[in-house]
Amino acid sequence: MEKNLQTIEQDALAELEKAVSRDDVDALVTRYLGRKGALTAFLRNISKLPVGDRPGAGKDANALKIKLEEAFEEAGTRFQDQDTGGGIDVTLPGRPVVRGALHPVTKISREIVAIFSRLGFDVVEGPEIETDYYNFEALNIPKYHPARDMQDTFYVSENIVLRTHTSPTQPRVMEKTDPPVRILAPGKVYRCDSDLTHTPMFHQAEGLVVDKDVSFGDLKGIITTFIHQLFDPDISVRFRPSFFPFTEPSAEVDIQCVMCRGKGCRICSRTGWLEVLGSGMVHPAVFENVGYDTEKYSGFAFGMGIERLAMLKYGIDDLRKFFENDMRFLRQF
Ligand SMILES: [Zn+2]
Repeated sequence: MEKNLQTIEQDALAELEKAVSRDDVDALVTRYLGRKGALTAFLRNISKLPVGDRPGAGKDANALKIKLEEAFEEAGTRFQDQDTGGGIDVTLPGRPVVRGALHPVTKISREIVAIFSRLGFDVVEGPEIETDYYNFEALNIPKYHPARDMQDTFYVSENIVLRTHTSPTQPRVMEKTDPPVRILAPGKVYRCDSDLTHTPMFHQAEGLVVDKDVSFGDLKGIITTFIHQLFDPDISVRFRPSFFPFTEPSAEVDIQCVMCRGKGCRICSRTGWLEVLGSGMVHPAVFENVGYDTEKYSGFAFGMGIERLAMLKYGIDDLRKFFENDMRFLRQF
C-alpha cells in the first residue's frame, strides 16, 4: 500500500529537520522526488485510484512536490554556503573567460577606414543589390562593352545584379552631392568565381576624390600614404599603366613583396612586386552621367580587395580560410 500524501509530507519535513549537510539533503531529494522516490511513486499510482478521487489527488501531490522541491532547494543552498564559507571557495581554480576576436576581414576593414578617416574621407555605403545602370552604365560600361566580360555577374533579373564592385557608390554619391567629394565605400561584392584565389562573395573598398585641380599627383600621394600606414613606411610603391572603363588614365598599384622584400619568392611569382589596388583619374563620361562640369572639376578613384590586403598583411595563403569559420584560424587575430 502506498503511503498517503500527509505521511509523505510529515516524513520528508521531519527528515529535513535532521539533515546536517548538503549530502543529506541530496539523499532526501532522491528518496522523495527521485525516479523511485515516495512522491514519484504516489504520482505514478494515481491512475489506480477511483476516478472521482484522481483530480484532487493529482492536484495535492503536485502542490506537495513544489513545496518539497522548494524546501530541499533552500536547505541545500544553506548547507552549500556553510561548506564554502559564504558561497565563495577562494581555493578553486578560476574559470577562464573565453574572449572573442574580430574576424580578420573586419579588423583590416576598420584599419583601412581609420586611415582614410584621418585623411579626411567620409565613409559611405551603397546597396549590394544594384541596378545594371549604377553597376555598369553610369560607370562608362555600356551593354555589350567588352569590359563586361571582365566581370562574371550574378544577375537577379535583366536589369538587377548583385554588385560586382563597390564602384556604383561613386555615381550614387555624385548624383546627390556637389563637389568637393571625398569618400570611402567599403562593402561586400559578388562574382561568379570560386577557386583558390576567388570566392563568390568578397569585400572591396572604393575611394573617390573630386574637387577643382585634383591631379594624378594627389592620387599618388593619397595611395602611397595609405599603403605606408597600412603596411610599413619603408615599403616601395609603384604605379603601372592599366585600363578601367571608368578612369583615364588608369594605374594598377603594386607594392614591394611583403614576404621577400623584393628579392623574388613564390608569393610574388619571383617578380618582387604584388598588385594591391586599381586606380585612375575619373573618366569624363562618368562625370557627365552625374551632371558634373568636366571643365571645372577633376578627380581620382581607386578600389582595393580587402581580403587580398588581409592576406598580404597577415601572411595568409588561402583566401577560403576567411570564410570557413575555423576557430583555430580565427582565434589568431
Ligand atoms: Zn616575394
